[in-house]
Amino acid sequence: MRLVIVGASGRMGLAIARVAASTDGVQIVGAVDRPDAPGTGRDIGELAGVGAIGVLLSADLPAVLARADVMVDFSAPTATAANLAAAAAAGVAALVGTTGLDAAAQSAANDAARRVPVIVAANTSLGVTLLIELVRAASHALPKDFDIEIIEGHHRHKKDAPSGTALALGHAAAEGRSVSLDSVAVPTRTGGERRDGEIGFAVVRGGDIVGDHTVLFAGEGERVSLVHQATDRAIFARGAVRAASWLSGRSPGRYEMRDVLPFKTRA
Ligand code: NAD
Repeated sequence: MRLVIVGASGRMGLAIARVAASTDGVQIVGAVDRPDAPGTGRDIGELAGVGAIGVLLSADLPAVLARADVMVDFSAPTATAANLAAAAAAGVAALVGTTGLDAAAQSAANDAARRVPVIVAANTSLGVTLLIELVRAASHALPKDFDIEIIEGHHRHKKDAPSGTALALGHAAAEGRSVSLDSVAVPTRTGGERRDGEIGFAVVRGGDIVGDHTVLFAGEGERVSLVHQATDRAIFARGAVRAASWLSGRSPGRYEMRDVLPFKTRA
């Protein structure tokens, strides 16, 4: 699988380069970033600390797409729509890990998916992908008098709260009960008694926590907790490379990380 990394000199781009360089059957054929990115013109393997691989960091996406099977985009939400259009024009599958996408970027993903296979995933960890499925199943299986609370913790620099992953877990829990999250979510709890059916969020911010998520089902006399703890950002890179390999050669269309796992608790 011939891979192009967009946002290649960023934290995730370099992590993906490290994983891809040591994965059998995966060949990095392009590394793209902004024209003014530090490291432009240098070998991406050297930038990633795994030794030269003969691929230089550039800003010319169409040129490298011409020889690629899959593009992974971990860049900026403002860049993603154009990157998706370029991948579709070149007939290259796309995995978008960039978060904070607006409606225009989502609609660019739908447009691209008419021509190439596309995954847009705010969390490419395989463990979180599994957790989301387990939460949906637990929420469906347990009686409604089990109260659902989602507790998440991240490092002190995180910009959003609750995390996108916590919200995805909330959506899965709501889906298991056939309700919309918007109608039951309590993003910030202050004062007052808990109402039946609520899905509450509790947020911890501090230090260098990479990402902890717990979904608690609290019943009368028993509690079930489903927990994921990330200790290394490489989990997102490993999942991204696995998803990129999975996408290679698929039919055009929108796919999800749960298709990659594969373990589904709904069709
Ligand atoms: P970062 O700032 O370290 O890297 C982003 C890179 O993208 C930078 O090198 C930047 O120069 C580059 N970039 C910006 N605009 C560009 C453009 N127009 N064309 C090409 N490159 C461009 O950020 P990061 O920590 O690597 O995260 C990148 C994105 O991935 C963010 O949106 C982040 O939230 C998301 N992310 C997703 C997951 C996941 O599991 N899906 C995990 C971690 C981070």
